[in-house]
Amino acid sequence: MEEKPDEILTIEKIEGRRKCPSCGEENKNMIHESVDKTRIINDYPRVYGNKYRCGQCGTEWREK
Ligand SMILES: [Zn+2]
Repeated sequence: MEEKPDEILTIEKIEGRRKCPSCGEENKNMIHESVDKTRIINDYPRVYGNKYRCGQCGTEWREK
């Protein structure tokens, strides 16, 4: 199956509290951070971007 890394929602990084771009959830216990291996920020040393998933509505997104 072909990967489509660009399908994920990308938003501007917000100052202060991270919140869900879809439902506005702000509780950090509901926002799950994980490594997005489709997005390489730096080659050496290898650094990947992060992505986030809202435990409330299931939306996944990453920040610019
Ligand atoms: Zn949400």
